[in-house]
Amino acid sequence: MVIKNSEFVTSAVKSAGYPQSDLPEIAFAGRSNVGKSSFVNKFLNRKNIAKVSKTQGKTKLINFFKVNNEFMLVDLPGYGYANVSKGEQLSWGKMIEGYLNNRGNLKAVFLLCDIRHEPTEDDVMMFNFIIERGFTPFVIVTKADKLAKTKVEPRVDEFKDFFGIENVFAFSSLSGYGRDNLLKLVEEILED
Ligand code: GDP
Repeated sequence: MVIKNSEFVTSAVKSAGYPQSDLPEIAFAGRSNVGKSSFVNKFLNRKNIAKVSKTQGKTKLINFFKVNNEFMLVDLPGYGYANVSKGEQLSWGKMIEGYLNNRGNLKAVFLLCDIRHEPTEDDVMMFNFIIERGFTPFVIVTKADKLAKTKVEPRVDEFKDFFGIENVFAFSSLSGYGRDNLLKLVEEILED
């Protein structure tokens, strides 16, 4: 797949605010600071498209981006701020739950984890949530450039073992490592 164009469509909290669209959707989840905005920018080959919503203070919303008029990339709100209130955690959970439960055209959910760290409890919860909702989980390990090149794929294998899946892919927003693989994968998912 070649990304020819992409545009920010809207941000939403509840299903009433989701864009009306028949396009298939691919969603990305992960804790705050995992590199999700940087991933979206690099994946779409746009300098700052993911930050558009951030500068408007909309990090806690679900952001929809239309890509190639072919699919919708959905940026789910980042979780896991250390000192977030119970109420905020609850609203985050409801937002994600509402989205995964109410989106008929959702094709796949990717979970982003930092390559340097063990998955957090929240990551595991999100991972299980993806499975419970009936989706095949895909994991992207971000910031691959932080490890020596020879250490990247062995670390990917550790994530495969941890989650018990084969669908784990390393990515770097700095170098673009892994981008081609993910473009291919997204194309396959959309053709499925
Ligand atoms: P988000 O909160 O998940 O959207 O995370 P951001 O995309 O804002 O990234 C959080 C921090 O990690 C920022 O300082 C980024 O510059 C940095 N970062 C994100 N992706 C990468 C990467 O692939 N490599 C490196 N070295 N740093 C990254």
